[in-house]
Amino acid sequence: METRRVSGQGARVVKAPVARWRVNLVVDPILCDGHGVCAELFPERVVMDHWGYPIVDQEEIPTGLIEHARRAVAACPRLALHLVEGRR
Ligand code: SF4
Repeated sequence: METRRVSGQGARVVKAPVARWRVNLVVDPILCDGHGVCAELFPERVVMDHWGYPIVDQEEIPTGLIEHARRAVAACPRLALHLVEGRR
């Protein structure tokens, strides 16, 4: 495991794991038929366009929102929503 040094107060140095993976939410526009469940469950990253289809924010999903994103993915009736892991 890759580590980085984190220094605190005093002379103590702690090694902490480096988060090397990022998670993004993607939608398959071919499968999606615009139910809008994703926007209801994950409004932090999904909004609906004028035609009722999702616009997904491509920014990395912070750890605190991963469970919200997973819930939206699991609820998609068309299996059109996915979490994709990639290297930073
Ligand atoms: S829940 Fe699934 S099918 Fe419905 S708008 Fe979102 S991605 Fe599309």
